[in-house]
Amino acid sequence: MAGPGKHNHPVIALALVSSGLDSLLAARLIKDQDVEVQGVTYLFSFDIQADRERQEKMRALFDSQSIPVRFIDISEAFLPVLKDPPHGYGSGVNPCIDCHLFMIRHAGTLMESMGARFLITGEVVGQRPMSQTKPVLFHIDKASGLRGLILRPLSALRLPPTIPETEGWVDREKLRGIAGRSRKEQIRLARQMGIHGYSTPAGGCILTDPEYAGRVKMFLRIRGKEQLTVPVLRLMRVGRHLWPHERIHVVVGRHEEENRILESFEGYWKFHPEDHKGPLVLADGLLSDEDIDCAASITARYSGPRRDERRIVFEGARRGVRVVRPLDEETLEAWRV
Ligand code: SF4
Repeated sequence: MAGPGKHNHPVIALALVSSGLDSLLAARLIKDQDVEVQGVTYLFSFDIQADRERQEKMRALFDSQSIPVRFIDISEAFLPVLKDPPHGYGSGVNPCIDCHLFMIRHAGTLMESMGARFLITGEVVGQRPMSQTKPVLFHIDKASGLRGLILRPLSALRLPPTIPETEGWVDREKLRGIAGRSRKEQIRLARQMGIHGYSTPAGGCILTDPEYAGRVKMFLRIRGKEQLTVPVLRLMRVGRHLWPHERIHVVVGRHEEENRILESFEGYWKFHPEDHKGPLVLADGLLSDEDIDCAASITARYSGPRRDERRIVFEGARRGVRVVRPLDEETLEAWRV
Protein backbone atom coordinates (compact mmCIF):
# COMPACT_ATOMS: atom_id res chain seq x y z
CA MET A 1 0.00 0.00 0.00
CA ALA A 2 1.37 3.41 -0.92
CA GLY A 3 1.40 5.76 2.10
CA PRO A 4 0.73 9.47 1.98
CA GLY A 5 3.48 11.24 0.13
CA LYS A 6 4.63 8.01 -1.57
CA HIS A 7 2.36 8.30 -4.61
CA ASN A 8 3.66 9.26 -8.01
CA HIS A 9 1.00 11.84 -8.82
CA PRO A 10 -0.05 14.56 -6.42
CA VAL A 11 -3.27 13.64 -4.66
CA ILE A 12 -5.91 16.30 -5.12
CA ALA A 13 -9.00 16.45 -2.91
CA LEU A 14 -12.03 18.65 -3.25
CA ALA A 15 -13.36 20.07 0.04
CA LEU A 16 -16.97 21.07 0.39
CA VAL A 17 -16.59 24.11 2.63
CA SER A 18 -18.82 26.65 4.34
CA SER A 19 -18.33 29.63 6.60
CA GLY A 20 -18.34 27.40 9.71
CA LEU A 21 -15.23 26.12 11.44
CA ASP A 22 -15.76 22.40 10.83
CA SER A 23 -15.18 22.37 7.09
CA LEU A 24 -12.00 24.40 7.53
CA LEU A 25 -10.70 21.97 10.15
CA ALA A 26 -11.57 19.03 7.91
CA ALA A 27 -9.76 20.59 4.97
CA ARG A 28 -6.72 21.36 7.13
CA LEU A 29 -6.54 17.81 8.52
CA ILE A 30 -6.15 16.57 4.95
CA LYS A 31 -3.96 19.38 3.65
CA ASP A 32 -1.56 18.69 6.52
CA GLN A 33 -1.15 15.19 5.04
CA ASP A 34 0.50 16.40 1.88
CA VAL A 35 -2.69 16.40 -0.14
CA GLU A 36 -3.56 19.30 -2.43
CA VAL A 37 -6.92 20.57 -1.14
CA GLN A 38 -9.20 22.81 -3.15
CA GLY A 39 -12.42 24.15 -1.70
CA VAL A 40 -15.84 24.76 -3.17
CA THR A 41 -18.73 26.62 -1.58
CA TYR A 42 -22.26 26.55 -2.90
CA LEU A 43 -24.31 29.69 -2.41
CA PHE A 44 -27.95 30.61 -2.57
CA SER A 45 -28.35 34.21 -3.65
CA PHE A 46 -31.57 34.72 -1.67
CA ASP A 47 -29.84 37.20 0.62
CA ILE A 48 -27.32 39.00 -1.55
CA GLN A 49 -25.85 41.23 1.14
CA ALA A 50 -25.35 38.39 3.62
CA ASP A 51 -23.86 36.22 0.88
CA ARG A 52 -21.38 38.92 -0.01
CA GLU A 53 -20.29 39.29 3.61
CA ARG A 54 -20.01 35.53 3.98
CA GLN A 55 -17.82 35.26 0.90
CA GLU A 56 -15.49 37.98 2.17
CA LYS A 57 -15.11 36.32 5.55
CA MET A 58 -14.54 32.91 4.01
CA ARG A 59 -12.02 34.21 1.54
CA ALA A 60 -9.98 35.77 4.35
CA LEU A 61 -10.17 32.64 6.50
CA PHE A 62 -9.31 30.11 3.80
CA ASP A 63 -6.64 32.37 2.30
CA SER A 64 -4.99 32.44 5.70
CA GLN A 65 -4.73 28.64 5.46
CA SER A 66 -3.64 28.69 1.79
CA ILE A 67 -6.72 26.76 0.68
CA PRO A 68 -8.22 28.14 -2.53
CA VAL A 69 -12.03 28.29 -2.57
CA ARG A 70 -14.37 28.53 -5.51
CA PHE A 71 -17.85 30.03 -5.02
CA ILE A 72 -20.73 28.66 -7.08
CA ASP A 73 -24.25 30.10 -7.02
CA ILE A 74 -26.73 27.22 -7.20
CA SER A 75 -29.95 29.17 -6.57
CA GLU A 76 -31.61 28.47 -9.93
CA ALA A 77 -30.49 24.86 -10.21
CA PHE A 78 -31.54 24.18 -6.62
CA LEU A 79 -35.03 25.62 -7.02
CA PRO A 80 -36.77 22.35 -8.04
CA VAL A 81 -35.27 20.64 -4.98
CA LEU A 82 -36.44 23.45 -2.73
CA LYS A 83 -39.98 23.21 -4.10
CA ASP A 84 -40.22 19.44 -3.94
CA PRO A 85 -37.66 17.86 -1.62
CA PRO A 86 -37.97 14.07 -1.66
CA HIS A 87 -36.73 13.88 1.95
CA GLY A 88 -38.86 16.77 3.19
CA TYR A 89 -38.08 19.97 5.09
CA GLY A 90 -36.47 20.54 8.47
CA SER A 91 -37.95 23.03 10.89
CA GLY A 92 -38.18 25.78 8.24
CA VAL A 93 -38.09 25.34 4.46
CA ASN A 94 -34.63 23.79 4.66
CA PRO A 95 -34.48 20.52 2.76
CA CYS A 96 -31.16 19.62 4.37
CA ILE A 97 -30.83 16.00 3.23
CA ASP A 98 -31.65 16.82 -0.38
CA CYS A 99 -29.51 19.93 -0.19
CA HIS A 100 -26.50 17.88 0.93
CA LEU A 101 -27.18 15.35 -1.78
CA PHE A 102 -27.47 18.08 -4.39
CA MET A 103 -24.19 19.69 -3.35
CA ILE A 104 -22.33 16.38 -3.11
CA ARG A 105 -23.57 15.29 -6.53
CA HIS A 106 -22.48 18.62 -7.98
CA ALA A 107 -19.13 18.30 -6.23
CA GLY A 108 -18.81 14.83 -7.76
CA THR A 109 -18.91 16.32 -11.26
CA LEU A 110 -16.40 18.99 -10.23
CA MET A 111 -14.07 16.33 -8.85
CA GLU A 112 -13.99 14.62 -12.20
CA SER A 113 -13.29 17.82 -14.11
CA MET A 114 -10.45 18.86 -11.80
CA GLY A 115 -8.88 15.44 -11.34
CA ALA A 116 -9.64 15.23 -7.62
CA ARG A 117 -9.56 11.73 -6.18
CA PHE A 118 -11.96 12.23 -3.30
CA LEU A 119 -14.27 14.63 -1.52
CA ILE A 120 -13.88 16.07 1.99
CA THR A 121 -16.74 17.42 4.08
CA GLY A 122 -16.80 18.95 7.56
CA GLU A 123 -19.75 16.81 8.65
CA VAL A 124 -19.70 15.53 12.21
CA VAL A 125 -21.73 12.46 13.16
CA GLY A 126 -24.68 13.41 15.34
CA GLN A 127 -24.18 17.16 15.07
CA ARG A 128 -27.39 17.91 13.22
CA PRO A 129 -30.46 15.81 13.91
CA MET A 130 -31.76 15.84 10.34
CA SER A 131 -28.76 15.55 8.07
CA GLN A 132 -25.80 14.23 10.03
CA THR A 133 -26.91 10.98 11.60
CA LYS A 134 -24.95 7.89 10.52
CA PRO A 135 -27.82 6.36 8.51
CA VAL A 136 -28.29 9.66 6.66
CA LEU A 137 -24.57 9.94 5.91
CA PHE A 138 -24.54 6.36 4.56
CA HIS A 139 -27.63 7.11 2.50
CA ILE A 140 -25.99 10.24 1.03
CA ASP A 141 -22.86 8.25 0.16
CA LYS A 142 -24.92 5.69 -1.70
CA ALA A 143 -27.41 8.03 -3.35
CA SER A 144 -24.71 10.44 -4.54
CA GLY A 145 -22.85 7.67 -6.38
CA LEU A 146 -19.68 8.55 -4.46
CA ARG A 147 -19.69 5.72 -1.95
CA GLY A 148 -16.23 5.33 -0.41
CA LEU A 149 -15.04 8.63 -1.84
CA ILE A 150 -16.53 10.98 0.74
CA LEU A 151 -14.13 11.47 3.62
CA ARG A 152 -15.32 13.18 6.79
CA PRO A 153 -12.03 13.79 8.57
CA LEU A 154 -13.55 15.08 11.82
CA SER A 155 -15.62 11.92 12.37
CA ALA A 156 -13.64 9.41 10.29
CA LEU A 157 -12.72 7.17 13.23
CA ARG A 158 -16.42 6.61 13.93
CA LEU A 159 -17.14 5.65 10.32
CA PRO A 160 -15.97 2.77 8.12
CA PRO A 161 -12.65 3.43 6.33
CA THR A 162 -13.06 5.16 2.99
CA ILE A 163 -11.08 4.60 -0.22
CA PRO A 164 -8.63 7.48 0.47
CA GLU A 165 -7.78 5.73 3.76
CA THR A 166 -7.57 2.17 2.46
CA GLU A 167 -5.54 3.30 -0.55
CA GLY A 168 -3.15 5.16 1.73
CA TRP A 169 -3.76 8.57 0.18
CA VAL A 170 -4.37 9.76 3.73
CA ASP A 171 -3.35 8.32 7.08
CA ARG A 172 -6.45 7.27 9.02
CA GLU A 173 -4.58 7.55 12.29
CA LYS A 174 -4.28 11.29 11.83
CA LEU A 175 -8.04 11.73 11.46
CA ARG A 176 -10.50 12.34 14.30
CA GLY A 177 -13.45 10.62 15.94
CA ILE A 178 -15.54 13.62 16.92
CA ALA A 179 -19.30 13.15 17.37
CA GLY A 180 -22.24 15.07 18.76
CA ARG A 181 -23.20 18.68 19.18
CA SER A 182 -20.45 19.86 21.53
CA ARG A 183 -17.94 22.23 19.96
CA LYS A 184 -15.13 21.63 22.47
CA GLU A 185 -13.05 19.28 20.31
CA GLN A 186 -13.28 21.55 17.29
CA ILE A 187 -12.27 24.62 19.29
CA ARG A 188 -9.31 22.74 20.75
CA LEU A 189 -8.26 21.56 17.29
CA ALA A 190 -8.54 25.09 15.89
CA ARG A 191 -6.28 26.34 18.67
CA GLN A 192 -3.73 23.58 17.94
CA MET A 193 -3.76 24.50 14.26
CA GLY A 194 -3.43 28.22 14.96
CA ILE A 195 -6.78 29.01 13.35
CA HIS A 196 -8.38 32.21 14.62
CA GLY A 197 -11.08 34.59 13.45
CA TYR A 198 -13.65 31.95 12.54
CA SER A 199 -17.33 32.59 13.17
CA THR A 200 -19.42 30.59 15.60
CA PRO A 201 -21.72 28.14 13.81
CA ALA A 202 -24.79 29.91 12.49
CA GLY A 203 -27.02 26.84 12.76
CA GLY A 204 -28.17 26.78 9.16
CA CYS A 205 -28.85 28.93 6.13
CA ILE A 206 -31.62 31.46 5.56
CA LEU A 207 -34.04 28.61 4.75
CA THR A 208 -33.98 27.60 8.43
CA ASP A 209 -35.00 31.09 9.62
CA PRO A 210 -38.55 30.82 11.08
CA GLU A 211 -39.74 34.21 9.80
CA TYR A 212 -38.35 33.63 6.33
CA ALA A 213 -39.71 30.09 6.21
CA GLY A 214 -43.15 31.34 7.27
CA ARG A 215 -43.21 33.78 4.37
CA VAL A 216 -42.09 31.16 1.84
CA LYS A 217 -44.68 28.66 3.11
CA MET A 218 -47.41 31.28 2.89
CA PHE A 219 -46.38 32.11 -0.66
CA LEU A 220 -46.33 28.43 -1.64
CA ARG A 221 -49.76 27.87 -0.12
CA ILE A 222 -51.35 30.86 -1.85
CA ARG A 223 -49.49 31.17 -5.14
CA GLY A 224 -48.19 27.62 -5.61
CA LYS A 225 -44.81 26.16 -6.58
CA GLU A 226 -44.83 27.40 -10.15
CA GLN A 227 -44.72 31.03 -9.03
CA LEU A 228 -41.82 30.58 -6.62
CA THR A 229 -38.74 32.00 -8.36
CA VAL A 230 -35.32 33.21 -7.26
CA PRO A 231 -36.43 36.90 -7.32
CA VAL A 232 -39.44 35.98 -5.15
CA LEU A 233 -37.12 34.21 -2.72
CA ARG A 234 -34.99 37.36 -2.60
CA LEU A 235 -38.06 39.48 -1.98
CA MET A 236 -39.00 37.26 0.98
CA ARG A 237 -35.84 38.47 2.70
CA VAL A 238 -36.76 42.17 2.57
CA GLY A 239 -39.24 44.33 4.46
CA ARG A 240 -42.55 43.61 6.20
CA HIS A 241 -44.88 41.21 4.40
CA LEU A 242 -48.66 41.38 4.42
CA TRP A 243 -51.33 39.32 2.69
CA PRO A 244 -54.53 41.40 2.82
CA HIS A 245 -56.23 38.51 1.10
CA GLU A 246 -55.36 35.50 -1.02
CA ARG A 247 -54.75 37.57 -4.13
CA ILE A 248 -52.79 40.53 -2.75
CA HIS A 249 -49.21 40.48 -1.50
CA VAL A 250 -47.73 43.70 -0.06
CA VAL A 251 -44.12 44.33 1.00
CA VAL A 252 -43.17 47.44 3.01
CA GLY A 253 -39.58 48.73 3.18
CA ARG A 254 -38.42 49.24 6.77
CA HIS A 255 -35.59 51.68 6.08
CA GLU A 256 -33.71 53.45 3.28
CA GLU A 257 -31.61 50.44 2.37
CA GLU A 258 -34.69 48.21 2.02
CA ASN A 259 -36.51 50.89 0.03
CA ARG A 260 -33.57 50.93 -2.35
CA ILE A 261 -33.62 47.13 -2.70
CA LEU A 262 -37.39 47.08 -3.25
CA GLU A 263 -37.07 49.75 -5.93
CA SER A 264 -35.03 47.30 -8.01
CA PHE A 265 -37.86 44.72 -8.23
CA GLU A 266 -39.70 44.84 -11.51
CA GLY A 267 -43.27 43.85 -12.30
CA TYR A 268 -44.81 45.09 -9.02
CA TRP A 269 -47.03 48.03 -8.18
CA LYS A 270 -45.09 50.65 -6.22
CA PHE A 271 -46.48 53.04 -3.59
CA HIS A 272 -44.96 55.86 -1.56
CA PRO A 273 -46.23 58.95 0.28
CA GLU A 274 -46.31 62.02 -1.92
CA ASP A 275 -43.96 63.89 0.43
CA HIS A 276 -41.54 60.92 0.38
CA LYS A 277 -41.62 60.77 4.18
CA GLY A 278 -42.26 57.07 4.39
CA PRO A 279 -41.52 53.68 2.89
CA LEU A 280 -41.50 52.29 -0.58
CA VAL A 281 -44.20 49.64 -0.79
CA LEU A 282 -44.48 46.86 -3.39
CA ALA A 283 -47.73 45.13 -4.15
CA ASP A 284 -49.01 42.58 -6.59
CA GLY A 285 -52.36 41.03 -7.36
CA LEU A 286 -54.14 44.41 -7.41
CA LEU A 287 -57.17 44.47 -9.71
CA SER A 288 -59.57 47.14 -8.52
CA ASP A 289 -59.65 50.64 -7.00
CA GLU A 290 -60.38 49.00 -3.64
CA ASP A 291 -57.20 46.92 -3.99
CA ILE A 292 -55.18 50.05 -4.77
CA ASP A 293 -56.70 51.81 -1.74
CA CYS A 294 -55.83 48.82 0.40
CA ALA A 295 -52.11 49.00 -0.54
CA ALA A 296 -52.20 52.80 -0.25
CA SER A 297 -53.66 52.64 3.28
CA ILE A 298 -50.87 50.24 4.31
CA THR A 299 -48.35 52.74 2.89
CA ALA A 300 -50.07 55.55 4.82
CA ARG A 301 -49.86 53.54 8.05
CA TYR A 302 -46.06 53.43 7.81
CA SER A 303 -45.63 57.02 6.60
CA GLY A 304 -44.50 59.38 9.36
CA PRO A 305 -46.66 60.71 12.19
CA ARG A 306 -50.22 59.45 12.40
CA ARG A 307 -52.80 61.71 10.86
CA ASP A 308 -56.19 61.24 9.38
CA GLU A 309 -55.44 61.20 5.68
CA ARG A 310 -52.38 60.98 3.45
CA ARG A 311 -51.67 61.43 -0.21
CA ILE A 312 -50.10 58.27 -1.60
CA VAL A 313 -48.56 58.10 -5.06
CA PHE A 314 -48.75 54.81 -6.94
CA GLU A 315 -47.63 53.33 -10.23
CA GLY A 316 -48.23 49.95 -11.79
CA ALA A 317 -50.71 48.97 -14.48
CA ARG A 318 -51.69 52.61 -14.07
CA ARG A 319 -50.44 55.53 -12.02
CA GLY A 320 -51.99 58.21 -9.84
CA VAL A 321 -52.52 59.56 -6.33
CA ARG A 322 -54.95 58.28 -3.70
CA VAL A 323 -55.99 60.07 -0.55
CA VAL A 324 -56.49 57.41 2.13
CA ARG A 325 -56.69 56.88 5.88
CA PRO A 326 -53.89 54.79 7.46
CA LEU A 327 -54.82 51.16 8.00
CA ASP A 328 -55.87 50.37 11.58
CA GLU A 329 -53.55 48.30 13.82
CA GLU A 330 -55.83 45.34 14.29
CA THR A 331 -56.26 44.72 10.57
CA LEU A 332 -52.58 45.29 9.98
CA GLU A 333 -51.62 42.62 12.53
CA ALA A 334 -54.11 40.18 11.03
CA TRP A 335 -52.50 40.57 7.61
CA ARG A 336 -48.86 40.42 8.66
CA VAL A 337 -46.74 37.32 8.01
S1 SF4 B 1 -29.01 24.48 6.36
FE1 SF4 B 1 -29.46 25.28 4.32
S2 SF4 B 1 -27.52 25.11 3.20
FE2 SF4 B 1 -27.36 23.82 5.01
S3 SF4 B 1 -27.98 21.80 4.29
FE3 SF4 B 1 -29.79 22.76 5.16
S4 SF4 B 1 -30.79 23.71 3.41
FE4 SF4 B 1 -28.70 23.27 2.77
